[in-house]
Amino acid sequence: MSTDCLFCRIAKGEIPAQVVYRTPTAIAIRDINPQAPVHLLVIPLEHVETLNDTADAEFLGSLLVAAREVARRERLDLKGYRVVVNNGVEAGQTVPHLHLHVLGGRAMRWPPG
Ligand code: 5GP
Ligand code: ZN
Repeated sequence: MSTDCLFCRIAKGEIPAQVVYRTPTAIAIRDINPQAPVHLLVIPLEHVETLNDTADAEFLGSLLVAAREVARRERLDLKGYRVVVNNGVEAGQTVPHLHLHVLGGRAMRWPPG
């Protein structure tokens, strides 16, 4: 945990968020600035900055499993949805605490900007 990290503080309940799902190791919240009708963030409770910082397959796998579960709960699984991890500056990562975006509820374009 990092005391000055936004997502650590949300994970600890110090900053309010709309939590839609919890596992022992992660939470899923609604993004404050949604880019699609459904825009969720899967956030591990453990502070890991980016994908560069861990190769723990169980940890990373658990985040993907949480992403598919929230997509299913939001009924995105039939029509489709996108799971995005922005890593570092050029990818547009703004919060340095690893998180998965789950986006759905509209048609997506490719390639992403
Ligand atoms: P990134 O740009 O790092 O991939 O994604 C960070 C995401 O966190 C952005 O989509 C942004 O809208 C979201 N975000 C930033 N601050 C907050 C907050 O305080 N609460 C919630 N729920 N989402 C946030
Ligand atoms: Zn953190």
